[in-house]
Amino acid sequence: MTASDWRKILKQLVNKPAKKERFLKHCKPKDRKIGIAARKCERCGRFGAHIKSYGLNLCRHCFREIAEEIGFKKYS
Ligand SMILES: [Zn+2]
Repeated sequence: MTASDWRKILKQLVNKPAKKERFLKHCKPKDRKIGIAARKCERCGRFGAHIKSYGLNLCRHCFREIAEEIGFKKYS
């Protein structure tokens, strides 16, 4: 399971309120303020290789795919 989809577990626990509370208290991932898991790609949800410059908030893979569409030009 990735950090992006822990909420899917809550759907399974709809009819088990006690288990759901226990999950939320002990097993829910922390809300990160710093570190690699604090920010993810807006397009694909990947955590690594994040580009924050110019307010892009994309991973390097998505940036490579859409760079020309959003106005970047490759000089090499
Ligand atoms: Zn991406």
